[in-house]
Amino acid sequence: MSLAFTEGIWRPELSLFRAIDIRCDDCGRGKRMQPAEIRAQVAKGVYSLVGLHDKLHCAVCRDRGGLGKNVSVYPIKRGE
Ligand SMILES: [Zn+2]
Repeated sequence: MSLAFTEGIWRPELSLFRAIDIRCDDCGRGKRMQPAEIRAQVAKGVYSLVGLHDKLHCAVCRDRGGLGKNVSVYPIKRGE
């Protein structure tokens, strides 16, 4: 697969969102990732929603002995 971007200035997918709601589907806990936190992820090299999702886990479920990986992300686009 080619990773070449042919047109325009490439911007990370994550920079399209003004916030991202994150919810654990096992325990129902959630939080909203704020713009500063999103920028911090991009600065660390996390550019896509899928890449971010791979890194997320629920600390509460992990503390209970689970994997804590049943986490959903709901991005909120700029202007919404
Ligand atoms: Zn959980």
